[in-house]
Amino acid sequence: MKADLHCHSYFSDGKHSPDFLLNRAETNNISHLAITDHDFVMNPKDFMLRKSKVHLISGVEISCEWQNREIHIVGIGIDPENSLLETMLLKQRANRETRVEKIHRLLLKADIDGLMKYFESQHCISKTRSHVADFLVLSGATKNRKLAFSRFLGKGGRAYVPAIWVSMEEAIYAISSSGGISVLAHPGRYKLSKYQLNGLVDAFKKTGGAALEVSYGNIHPNVKKALEETALKNKLFISAGSDFHDAGAHWTDIGKFPQISVPAEKYAVWQHPKWYF
Ligand code: AMP
Ligand code: MN
Ligand code: MN
Ligand code: MN
Repeated sequence: MKADLHCHSYFSDGKHSPDFLLNRAETNNISHLAITDHDFVMNPKDFMLRKSKVHLISGVEISCEWQNREIHIVGIGIDPENSLLETMLLKQRANRETRVEKIHRLLLKADIDGLMKYFESQHCISKTRSHVADFLVLSGATKNRKLAFSRFLGKGGRAYVPAIWVSMEEAIYAISSSGGISVLAHPGRYKLSKYQLNGLVDAFKKTGGAALEVSYGNIHPNVKKALEETALKNKLFISAGSDFHDAGAHWTDIGKFPQISVPAEKYAVWQHPKWYF
């Protein structure tokens, strides 16, 4: 078993097709791949995917609010046709749409036109600020994505628009209702103190969360070790994924994140009763 349970396609802010991701997974000897786009679940029935040795798992990464912070919950093994989840994701994507329109209006004030036209040329079903950052670089408004966030899109930037996300509880409930397993994504990226992280993990578990993502692209070995210990201490399962977006940039390749340690692997998410792939 070699699974990568977190990556993005061009249906959100990834740069590549699902076929490309499957191909890459096969090349890198991955047996199970979950494509987890931001607030969008791909239904394989709707797309002509190539035949692959890799087991494709339906997934999603939901942006949520917890105690006035943004956190991400990955859902794996969900039914893409579940109506409760779909209704919630439609609401999320509608809020993303509104946010992008507001950003567009703020950019117009800075004499930057063309964002909506740019989106027409993209495959995305879920619109993100990541797309807007690419547009700002492409149009010459900023030199790179980092500057796009600091000057325009991040807090304090001139085109900053706060997001409206569902609560963590709603996201976990929707994932569970659709038969999926909830994973707290990249817990080391939220800039939380140890105390705050314990509070988040506690709330996540109490609302039905099942697993912690303990390994992902660019994770520090000490953070990975601490997260494995946190998962075991809290009797949570363990998940891992590259969070791959783009082969042309410095994203971790599919399957190339640090491996889960041998003792922690006993609690890997593929031991979860809902895992059937
Ligand atoms: P959104 O979900 O629309 O707020 O967009 C967030 C996406 O933008 C994330 O998934 C990242 O890929 C990207 N992102 C967020 N902050 C930054 C940053 N400071 N620099 C570069 N990319 C970022
Ligand atoms: Mn992203
Ligand atoms: Mn994320
Ligand atoms: Mn992600």
